[in-house]
Parts: sequence; C-alpha cells; structure tokens
Amino acid sequence: YCIDMAYAAIHGSEGQNEAIQNQNKEIDFEAIKPKALMEVLNRYVIGQERAKKIFSVGVYNHYKRIFRQTDAQGDDTEISKSNILLVGPTGSGKTLMAQTLAKFLDVPIAICDATSLTEAGYVGEDVENILTRLLQAADGDVKRAEQGIVFVDEIDKIARMSENRSITRDVSGEGVQQALLKIIEGSLVNIPPKGGRKHPNQEFIQIDTSNILFVCGGAFDGLADIIERRIGKNVLGFGQDKRSKDDKENLLDALESDDLVHFGLIPELIGRLHVVATLNKITQDDMVRILTEPKNAILKQYQKLFAIDRANLKFDDEALKEVARLAIERKTGARGLRSIMEEVMTDIMYELPELAGYDVVITKEVVSGKEKPIFVKNNKISA
Ligand code: ADP
Repeated sequence: YCIDMAYAAIHGSEGQNEAIQNQNKEIDFEAIKPKALMEVLNRYVIGQERAKKIFSVGVYNHYKRIFRQTDAQGDDTEISKSNILLVGPTGSGKTLMAQTLAKFLDVPIAICDATSLTEAGYVGEDVENILTRLLQAADGDVKRAEQGIVFVDEIDKIARMSENRSITRDVSGEGVQQALLKIIEGSLVNIPPKGGRKHPNQEFIQIDTSNILFVCGGAFDGLADIIERRIGKNVLGFGQDKRSKDDKENLLDALESDDLVHFGLIPELIGRLHVVATLNKITQDDMVRILTEPKNAILKQYQKLFAIDRANLKFDDEALKEVARLAIERKTGARGLRSIMEEVMTDIMYELPELAGYDVVITKEVVSGKEKPIFVKNNKISA
C-alpha cells in the first residue's frame, strides 16, 4: 500500500503529488529508515552486524531514490541507482538478508543462481527469465515487479577466466555478465510472460528495470588472496609473515573494486554494484545462536511441535554446541543446521505422540548418536 502511494506520488499530477507525499512522510519512510530495517534484520539474521548496517542503508537509499527523487524542489540532482553486492561464504545469511527485507517491505523478490544463466542463444536460462520470475512473484503485476528485488546468487561463478571455471561450459562468464549488466543498469526489457526461450511471434511484456533493486551474492573464494597480494605490494614489510585464517577474513574489509576486477568481474558490472558488504563465516557460537535466537529459530520450531503433543523438548548447551560443530564440519554454513537437527530428531519425533507429559532431554551424546535421549516424567502436564 505504502509503495503504491509512493508510486502515485511520482507518477500522479502535481497537486496529488504533494498531498500524497506528505502522507508518505508519515507512513512509509519512517518505517523503512535504516534503523528500522536493521531492527527487522536483527530478528532473523545473527551476527553480520556491519553487513546488516550497510544493507539497511543501501535498501533505504534505493527506495528513497525511487520515491523521493522529486522531493527537493528545484534540485535536479539525480540520485543514481546503486545495487548491492554481498560477499560472504555460503550459508552465511546473504539470501536470508534479502528475503527478510523483501518480506518486510512487501515487495516481490526473485532469487536465482548466476550459474544457471547463459547468454541468449546458448543452453541454459536467458537472463531475462529472472524478470519473468520476478513478475510471477508479483502475481503478474508489472508495476509491483518493477519495484521488486532480484537476488542473483553465485555471481562469483560467472567471473571470467577464474581458475575454477569449468572448461566444459561453452559460454564465457563475461557474456553472462554483459547480459546481466544490461538489466541491472536499468533498461526496458522484453520478457516472455511464461519464461522459457524467446521465439518469434511470441507476445512480450515490457519491464522497466530502472527501479528494481539488484542484490548480487557470492563467496568469492580466493578474493582474500587477491587483496593480500595488493596490500602486500603497496605496504613495505607488510604481508611478509604468513597470516592466519582469521586475518584473511579481515582482509575482506579492505576490499576495493579493483580486487573484484582482478577476480574476474567486468568493471561495468562492478560500477553498478556500488554498495558492497562482506559477511563473515558463521562461527560455532553463531551457529548456536542461529539454532535458538531468531524468530522461527529451528529449536523453537521443534519445541512448538513438542508442545502440541504436550511434551517438553530440552537441549543441553553442550548438545547445541555439538550440532553446531557438526554443521561446521559440513562446510555449508548455517544451511547444514536443519538437516542435522532433522537427523537427531527423527527417531524421537516418531515416539512423540506417546510422550505427552514428558520432558525430553537431548544431550551431546544423543546428538552424536552414542546415547538415547532421556525421558523424564514431569508433573506439569498429565498424560
Ligand atoms: P547464503 O549466504 O549462501 O545466501 P542463506 O542466507 O541462504 O545463505 O542461508 C541459508 C540458511 O542458513 C538460512 O535460511 C538460515 O536459516 C540460515 N542462516 C544463514 N546465515 C544466517 C545468519 N547469519 N543468521 C541466521 N540464520 C542464518
């Protein structure tokens, strides 16, 4: 609703314009200021404080640019579009951040993987299909889609000439980057309404991408080494000692756009991703927090399932740490937590309907499969 009002503010007549804009000041811009967005992110995303802050500011500025461009009377300065690049390991919360704010702002979001994209004419998905998906997420409402968010994951995998590129791919990453650039920089794009390949005699829907917020994410393995080499070259005596892994992570804070060029992104694309935030690898402590703290945290969900059957689920601190440790072993970031919990809980869930009136205590040994869980009859609820 707010966004619609704001849209009308820009596109409506002069008189309406002012009235609606005044309303906007009270309605939406208060609700989407960076601190408010940060607060929303805090409910769902653990850690990543700096990235959450940068992301909040980036999103706020984006919508300010769309809806407030005409505010300052007589000022014809145009705020240029700035899309967002999130650099961080897999399962560290990049997609989660974008999803969380899209939901809060009530704008459609399309999430896609850069590795599935190809240049037009090659095997794979045309870049335009991203927009088809966004349109679908907007229930076919073009105006809504044009204010939505597109999240392109694994953008690092379409870097040109990076060492880990597979030679079996017949398409240069650079071609895909060019195609992406075209829609990211803001243009009118014809899309096939149902997705799939473009073919002649097909009806197209035209989407204006100039107000769509593009968020690109990637792990950028090896980027820290590139930064290290650059810094090492420039600073005498620095970079001679072998640096620890932690130091390498901190190196990402020194990221400059040149490093991304070095990595294999084309400068034009980097030029469209002004806002860059780096996310840290999820630590064991973070994992435990992710299990227990966010709204809809996995442990809370299981506890709810237990409560419905009038049982209590209790996880020891050591048990939570063990789940976290196993997730780290899988190297998929926090993404691994759910399947580990699923594995631990399946047998117990099988018994759950008969456990009304019991406390079920999960210890570290239960998580590692060495012992059975402890069932303690409690007096609170009678079976
Ligand atoms: P990626 O960084 O690869 O985009 P995701 O954001 O998709 O990773 O994370 C995968 C899942 O792991 C999320 O759905 C969420 O459940 C969990 N997760 C990852 N990072 C965090 C975090 N910082 N805080 C809370 N949950 C997280």
